[in-house]
Amino acid sequence: MALVVQKYGGSSVADASCIKRVAQRIVATKKAGNDVVVIVSAMGDTTDELLDLAEQVSPLPPGRELDMLLTSGERISMALLAMAIANLGHEARSFTGSQAGVITDSSHGKARIIDVTPGRIRGAIDKGHIAIVAGFQGVSQDTKDITTLGRGGSDTTAVALAAALEADVCEIYTDVDGIFTADPRIVPPARKIPKISYDEMMEMAACGAKILHLRCVEYARRFDLPIHVRSSFSTKEGTWVVSDPYTEDPDIEGHEMEQPIISGVAHDRSEAKITVVGVPDKVGEAAAIFKTLAEAEINIDMIVQNVSAAATGRTDISFTLPTADSQTALTALKKIQGDIAYESLLFDDQIGKVSLVGAGMRSHPGVTATFFAALADAGVNIEMISTSEIRISVIVEQGDVDSAVAAAHRAFDLDADQVEAVVYGGSGR
Ligand code: ASP
Ligand code: MG
Repeated sequence: MALVVQKYGGSSVADASCIKRVAQRIVATKKAGNDVVVIVSAMGDTTDELLDLAEQVSPLPPGRELDMLLTSGERISMALLAMAIANLGHEARSFTGSQAGVITDSSHGKARIIDVTPGRIRGAIDKGHIAIVAGFQGVSQDTKDITTLGRGGSDTTAVALAAALEADVCEIYTDVDGIFTADPRIVPPARKIPKISYDEMMEMAACGAKILHLRCVEYARRFDLPIHVRSSFSTKEGTWVVSDPYTEDPDIEGHEMEQPIISGVAHDRSEAKITVVGVPDKVGEAAAIFKTLAEAEINIDMIVQNVSAAATGRTDISFTLPTADSQTALTALKKIQGDIAYESLLFDDQIGKVSLVGAGMRSHPGVTATFFAALADAGVNIEMISTSEIRISVIVEQGDVDSAVAAAHRAFDLDADQVEAVVYGGSGR
């Protein structure tokens, strides 16, 4: 008998008929002789709707109350799913994150899991019950307040519980058949990736691929827990996220796979760019700028500093950051304009990031040249560049993102001969 942890995303439980369909799938897994623990997201776009509602009563809702509000979304779906399973004649018990033992720090809206004590879940399994757990939420160790793990956090709940329960596999059910070489909504001939490494998946998630929460992949890597990402709308084998996808594993389809140079192309439209113009080129200026941003708790992504102009002894420093943080960043930088004596600030939120990810690029020269040539042929101008060992990212104009992704995908021969991606649900909101 195996212990299977399954997580169902919002589009898989979007309405009553979806919930009934998922209930059947869970019962089938149980009937096949497995113990089953299920993690659910809020129904459809519930989380976004709750956020809209909060904004209508307050432009800056207190984090504690916002978390209290948002966690109600997952409570709705967990209770409904437990009812649907009961209706099929099986015992199911729903638990909030706090009841399931998901203990976090107290940072509202982006809490980190610090411990998982799933005593009640164990108890339910031991009684032969199906345990249903509300994703995306926990309880703070210090304040005992309810917290959330950040958007998309249910994936992390699933992996954290799977690790704590020593589950055999964590299945993440979504509205596409797995992880694709690019978002099939933009590149219809994108291919399903049979297996991908934690490292590559972490780069993809960090570069805007929304299919898995970044923390969830970090967590799975730490515990070496295999994740199977698949569709709740089909029975097809999905994508396995594992530590070493390119060694033989006869249990997994596609095990004969050779390591590709590029595993996928990710994109992100949620960042903005700030340029600090005319920074005096002397020791300590960059430190002062980024210290100010750090104190404002802003996460910086790419940074570019130009060579200073000989005539003026001044330089420009550009960086990217989440668009949502840009007002805070601009305000903080204006406060230090007097001390640093930079000339002005430029702000651009019409940018996008396109990233090529692949462990194979480590041993292949010429990847950058092929990528940039493809962008040039597509008439896309590159504004900034950054790289890691297994990733190349560029910033382009936001309107160019789709064509840049498609061009890169084609240049590395990732296009499938015939369209295999099906997008089953979700409003993409
Ligand atoms: N419902 C939450 C969200 O939309 C958490 C999740 O779905 O993973 O971000
Ligand atoms: Mg998600």
